[in-house]
Amino acid sequence: MKNIYDYTLEELEEYFLSINEKKFKATQIFEWLYKKRVNSFDSMSNIKKETLDILKKDFIINDISIVTYKEGKDVIKFLFRLNDNQSVEAVLMKHDYGNSLCVSTQVGCNMGCKFCESGRLKKVRNLQTYEMVLQILKIEEVLNIRISHVVLMGIGEPFDNYDNVIKFIKIINSGKGIDIGARHITVSTCGIVPKIKEFIKDGNQVNLAISLHAPNNEIRNKIMNINKAYDINLLIDTLKEYISKTNRRVTFEYIMLDGVNDSVSCALELAKLLKGMNCYVNLIPYNETSHIEFKKSSDEHIRLFLDTLKKNHINVTIRKEFGGNVDAACGQLRANYEEGI
Ligand code: SAH
Repeated sequence: MKNIYDYTLEELEEYFLSINEKKFKATQIFEWLYKKRVNSFDSMSNIKKETLDILKKDFIINDISIVTYKEGKDVIKFLFRLNDNQSVEAVLMKHDYGNSLCVSTQVGCNMGCKFCESGRLKKVRNLQTYEMVLQILKIEEVLNIRISHVVLMGIGEPFDNYDNVIKFIKIINSGKGIDIGARHITVSTCGIVPKIKEFIKDGNQVNLAISLHAPNNEIRNKIMNINKAYDINLLIDTLKEYISKTNRRVTFEYIMLDGVNDSVSCALELAKLLKGMNCYVNLIPYNETSHIEFKKSSDEHIRLFLDTLKKNHINVTIRKEFGGNVDAACGQLRANYEEGI
């Protein structure tokens, strides 16, 4: 049995053609699932009974449940229980421009970034597409809100689950589906170069963010294992290719870690590395976690780093801090819940 939320519109159209039905039925199903938000085939009143019987034989409409949540100022963090009893989290952030949801893409993560809580609990499995789609549908349902922006920055490495993630993006971006504009969707990767190349080839229109976190190989090797496979120069060259082929801007995420990557000389090196690129840097105050020894940079260091980049003509902002008090650092709520903290 397949989960109906795993299917893109095109895949559902193919399915209907394969059972000798008209392909517009796929649009009708999408409308029931994503516009009218029903969660049973029997509620789909404009589909004839014989077709519904076939659908019920071939598909399930699965669900995932919210087991706990924590609420802070402008932020709510949810823990979901999946059908095999695994758990993942999603974080809702209320901005003045709308509601943004940070979704998880894997149970755990194998990238092993030293500062990241998700990586402490190794990858158990990839999330299926439906498990990503349902993070959005469930939260919209329980809070009776619409999510306007989606960032793939929860637990997991999206490009280590590439195919399911791309299907997820297609479903939420589809005008017949959840209809979130491509410019309102951001996929974030630690830098899996072959997948970035595939992403360029696919011509995907969503925003691309890169977790850079260091201005050179020496520092990046110490904090991000991925740099040993695809080093910073290869990564930057690939992103230059992305920018020239797509005409899109790249966002660099840069966590400010006290005494590790936050000096003025790091800022100067970063400015040199990114010189002339169509990009902007998002400085992220580190969200400290009790299990990891890294500390956040002082406000003064962050300000100095910001000013140095600005002086060197790099577009830069400081990310608004969300959810320090709700375990909102990537993977924290799950880790603490599973470990009974
Ligand atoms: N694996 C992907 C997406 C998930 S992590 C990636 O690496 O981009 C989303 C972002 O949160 C990444 O930039 C990650 O480095 C950052 N992050 C992880 N732990 C954090 C923490 N404790 N405080 C602040 N940002 C953190």
